[in-house]
Amino acid sequence: MSESFSNKLINWYNQNKRDLPWRKTKNPYMVWVSEIILQQTRIEFGIKYYERFLKKYPDINKLANTSDLDLMKIWEGLGYYSRAINMLKTAKIILNDYNGMFPSKYEQLIQLPGIGDYTASAVSSICNNELQPVVDGNVLRFLSRMNKIDLPIESIKTKKYFKKLAFELIKDVNPGDFNQALMDYGSMICKPKKYVCSSCLFSSDCKAYNSNSIENYPVKKKKILIKNRYLNYVVVVTDDNKTQINKRNSEGIWKNLYEFPLIETKQSLSAHQIIEELEIDFVELLSVKKVNHKLSHQLLHITFFIFRVDNKLDNLVDIKSLINYPFPKPINKFISELV
Ligand code: SF4
Repeated sequence: MSESFSNKLINWYNQNKRDLPWRKTKNPYMVWVSEIILQQTRIEFGIKYYERFLKKYPDINKLANTSDLDLMKIWEGLGYYSRAINMLKTAKIILNDYNGMFPSKYEQLIQLPGIGDYTASAVSSICNNELQPVVDGNVLRFLSRMNKIDLPIESIKTKKYFKKLAFELIKDVNPGDFNQALMDYGSMICKPKKYVCSSCLFSSDCKAYNSNSIENYPVKKKKILIKNRYLNYVVVVTDDNKTQINKRNSEGIWKNLYEFPLIETKQSLSAHQIIEELEIDFVELLSVKKVNHKLSHQLLHITFFIFRVDNKLDNLVDIKSLINYPFPKPINKFISELV
């Protein structure tokens, strides 16, 4: 199947590929930026961030010399903030150890912070024509249906198995084009739920299609348990419109972003219970706002308790200046209604 499959796929790609800004370059820095942004992010949403990022950091030198605060502000809203932290670490290493020249070889890329097999394969195949197949969710879905592979796609062993399978397919074709074609086919034709088998070039060879078992592929492990967390934010407002914020330094979600003083609890608290926990004097409770925010493994029950206080507190900042700080998405939304 391999040769005709790969050529057919690349022909399809040449006729149907999406016009995306990072496809106009083989500059490894730009391709790397796009690949990191696109992890966990929809393409339509990622384009805006990619363009904004490169406008602010057109080269590795500019990125390596930025501050945490500026970088987080650019990344605000994209989520998975450790990606941005690792990008900064990588930029500094490249400036110091590679003389500012972004590497394009798999063996060098894989050593850098935040770059795993997927990103190293994508950058090296596109920018250096290396035979390194990429295995992302789209590829896993497409190939597992084609071949009815009964292995749970979350495991590392399975990814290695698929990588080996894709190696056989990539051997005789342009690796960068093949990888992008495979991913595009998975996201445009062999889609998770709305797969379009009626216009699929491979339906006669597709084992899942021919055995009427598409719904069973890809095989997934049992559902991940979602953890509930209760975040109670104490939002103080002074008469001259100031408030308090802190930087999150702990490991876990939202590291290096800002937030209001937090009281995290094991269950939802009433305003009365929060007042008992408070370490500040307040004049009155102005209002309470609740919002739920879903992350991949967590459901955050967020409550903002807004208190009017006198002006005697330490570390106050103007509410109007909050737009200069990077905040997690749900807090940002709350602030946009506050200012
Ligand atoms: S026939 Fe359907 S399930 Fe099989 S590869 Fe094509 S789109 Fe995917």
